[in-house]
Amino acid sequence: GWSAICPSPATLLSEACEAPRLDSAALLARREAHFAKPQKHYYEVPPQIERGWHEFLFDVKGRAYLDMVNNVTMIGHAHPRLTAAIEQQWSRLNTNSRFHYVAVAEFSERLAALAPEGLESVFLVNSGSEANDLAIRLAWAHTGKKNMLCLLEAYHGWTLGSDAVSTSIADNPRALTTRPDWVHPLVAPNTYRGPFRGPDSAADYLAGVTTLLETIDERAEGLAGIIAEPAYGNAGGIALPRGYLAEVYAAIRKRGGLCIADEVQVGYGRLGHHFWGFEQQDVVPDIITIAKGMGNGHPLGAVITRREIAESLEKEGYFFSSSGGSPVGSVVGLTVLDIIKDEGLQENARMIGDHLKVGLIGLMERFPLIGAVHGMGLYLGVEFVRDHETLTPATEATSAICERLLELGVIMQPTGDHLNVLKIKPPLCLSADSADFFVKALERALEDGF
Ligand code: PLP
Repeated sequence: GWSAICPSPATLLSEACEAPRLDSAALLARREAHFAKPQKHYYEVPPQIERGWHEFLFDVKGRAYLDMVNNVTMIGHAHPRLTAAIEQQWSRLNTNSRFHYVAVAEFSERLAALAPEGLESVFLVNSGSEANDLAIRLAWAHTGKKNMLCLLEAYHGWTLGSDAVSTSIADNPRALTTRPDWVHPLVAPNTYRGPFRGPDSAADYLAGVTTLLETIDERAEGLAGIIAEPAYGNAGGIALPRGYLAEVYAAIRKRGGLCIADEVQVGYGRLGHHFWGFEQQDVVPDIITIAKGMGNGHPLGAVITRREIAESLEKEGYFFSSSGGSPVGSVVGLTVLDIIKDEGLQENARMIGDHLKVGLIGLMERFPLIGAVHGMGLYLGVEFVRDHETLTPATEATSAICERLLELGVIMQPTGDHLNVLKIKPPLCLSADSADFFVKALERALEDGF
């Protein structure tokens, strides 16, 4: 099969390690001169990546890197089965979503079948930001209310609605100064740092949630709902306190609000032990948003909800996305789902994720810089702190470790509000050898002392 012909990371990376680092500063300067979106990059000189294969990336000089941070490329880079499916559909037809295609119907059916019972209506869009904007519009349309709760330290996208509920200061510094008055963030239910540490701290947050809901009760525009990730993507895959969402969802629903689960990063099998992130919290949302991995890099997003919620948008008139639900997009979505199933990728995320987490926890004993290893499956975070009591974030060390990892052949990126967490979200086809290679590379980087 495809995996079998993929070279082992040991061969690939040791051969490639000798290749000189490409100086892409000139390319970066060109890009910054004309590429308008102010996109953050994490390396002093980012590698100039030319192609990918399985969980590996190659720069223009042929140097190989293990891709440990790509939460978009779910099934691996350049999967031949996906390439063939795209070529076949593209060569026949790709157009907007005005017509009826079998693939659109089939893809919507498959997504509805994966969602909990009752969530049967699917909107197809092109990104996570669009999906979250649409979810907020659905909550507004269905409840006839406006106010939305969200969590501090969260990220949901960059379009107007999703940006408004994104409060992570690392990703959206604007959130501190320009928050619309319908947005109400809750204290971050971060089980590692913050006012209420620990996995059993759900009850400690609830007084604050109730107080906030009571202030919203007094507002004329009322409560439309909450948008939240069921596990903290931005904070490095950290779990919410046990029982937190069940209590919050109950309080929201008592007031007629809807509960939106942003599964853009956490869902689709990445947790290994669960297909959906909300299963970890034992809740069923009213609206699910997905994107990223479902298209393996092809722009694809979706909102899955109950029929009556979907229909409430009709009151508002017309909804149309030119490319959401295109023939090629739908074929990509279907093929990615087939590959996840046929290659057992959720199971691989569970097995390799468990194995990787054991390796990372092993490093904690030797290197006190590691404060915690968060997450499960292939949704992990290694948090670096200067002191285990004060949890002072080791931000500069994290950045230096990422640079060192790049030299050792690993692509990595810091995450979290303090940019002191390694964001470990590799393709779900990661092999045990690659997981071990990563732990070894991190060990070598930490041995340098930071
Ligand atoms: N929601 C979450 C949890 C995300 O991590 C992201 C992107 O990073 C988004 C939404 C936005 O998705 P997109 O970048 O596809 O618009």
